[in-house]
Amino acid sequence: MATPAKPALPDIQGLTFRAGAPLSEYTRFGIGGPADLLIETDEEAAFTEALRRLQEQGLPHVVIGCGTNLVVSDAGFRGTVLRYTADTIRRGGHFIECDAGAELMTLVRTTVDEDLEGIQTLMGIPGSVGAAIYGNAGAYGHSISEVTREVRFFDGRTIREVGREGCEFRYRESIFKRNRNWIVLRVRMEFSEGDGPGLRKTADEILAIRNEKFPPTLKCAGSIFKNLHLADLPAAARSEVPDKVIREGKIPSAWFLEQVGAKDSWEGRIHIAPYHANLIYNAGGGTAEELCRMIGRLKKAVYERFGILLEEEVQYVGFEGAITAREQDK
Ligand SMILES: Cc1cc2nc3c(=O)[nH]c(=O)nc-3n(C[C@H](O)[C@H](O)[C@H](O)COP(=O)(O)OP(=O)(O)OC[C@H]3O[C@@H](n4cnc5c(N)ncnc54)[C@H](O)[C@@H]3O)c2cc1C
Repeated sequence: MATPAKPALPDIQGLTFRAGAPLSEYTRFGIGGPADLLIETDEEAAFTEALRRLQEQGLPHVVIGCGTNLVVSDAGFRGTVLRYTADTIRRGGHFIECDAGAELMTLVRTTVDEDLEGIQTLMGIPGSVGAAIYGNAGAYGHSISEVTREVRFFDGRTIREVGREGCEFRYRESIFKRNRNWIVLRVRMEFSEGDGPGLRKTADEILAIRNEKFPPTLKCAGSIFKNLHLADLPAAARSEVPDKVIREGKIPSAWFLEQVGAKDSWEGRIHIAPYHANLIYNAGGGTAEELCRMIGRLKKAVYERFGILLEEEVQYVGFEGAITAREQDK
C-alpha cells in the first residue's frame, strides 16, 4: 500500500513499520479499518524524532496506547498511527518513574506488591500509563492525578516537563487532552507507605468486581459516556435525580441512559449490556457506523428527555470529514 508518511521516516533507527495495519487489531472494540502506516518503538529518541518529522511536514498522525478507549472509523486512518511501547517502571524510595507505554495494571500491581499506597483502587483499568495521564483515569473516588508529580512529554518540537498543577487535571481531563500534540513519555509519581496485605486485598476485590462487570474478552471501552456533575445540570433534570444515585457530586450517566430505556438494546451487532446502560459492546461483527449510530441515538434520547448533552469518554480516530456521533445529534 502506498504510504504518504513512510518516506519521511525510514532512516530513523529503532522504528518498526506496518503498512495498512488493521486498527481493529489494536482496539478493544475490535473495530476500525486500516491505518496507512503504523509505527511502534520503545525508543524515546526515535519516537520523538518520528513525531517531530510528521509534525513539521504537516502529515496526519495520531498516537494511540492500548486502544481500550478508542472508536476507530470503518475507513481507518489516512495517515500514521504511532505507539510508544517503552514500559520500564523504576522505584526510588516512595517515588516511581514509569514510561508511558507501561500498562496501568502492571503499574498498580507493582505498587501494591511494594506496599505503596495511592492507586490501588485503579486496579483493573486497562490501557497504558500515558493514556491514563491524558484522560486522568480513575475509579472508586481516586484518579492517577493524585500521585502524579511530574510528567515528561513531547510538545511536537521538544521534550519538556510539567508538574501536577501544570497538568490541569480534572475529572477525565488534563492539559494533554486539550493539546493533542503533547505526548506523554514518562511520569514521576509519589506514594505513601501502605499496609501491603490491605492494599492487595482492596486491589484484588476491585479486580474481581471489574472482571464480572467487564469480562476481559468483552469488546468494549468501559463506560462510553462521562458521568455528570450535579451542579452542571439544568434545574429540572436535577430535581428528577434520586439522592441515592449521587456520588461525590456526580451522577452516573448510566442513570440517565436507563431512564430512556437504553439497557439491552441493539444497533446492528452493537449491544448495550442488560445490566449496565453505559456499557456498549461489540457482540461480534459490529461496525463503527453502528457504534456511532448507537451513541448518537442515546445522546439524542437523553437530550430530548432531560435537556442534557452527554459527553463521550471514548476518543474518536479517523472520522475527520465524516459524520461522528458527536455531530449526528445536532
Ligand atoms: C473494560 C474497561 C473498563 C474501563 N474502566 C475505566 C475506569 O474505571 N476508569 C477510567 O478512567 N477509564 C476506564 N476505561 C477506559 C480506558 O481504560 C482508559 O481511558 C485508558 O486510560 C485508555 O488507555 P489506552 O492505552 O487504551 O488508550 P487509547 O484508547 O489507545 O487512547 C486513548 C486516548 O489517549 C491518547 N493517548 C494514548 N497514549 C498517549 C500518550 N502517551 N500521550 C498522550 N496521549 C495519549 C490517545 O491519543 C487517545 O486519544 C475502561 C476501559 C475498558 C475497556
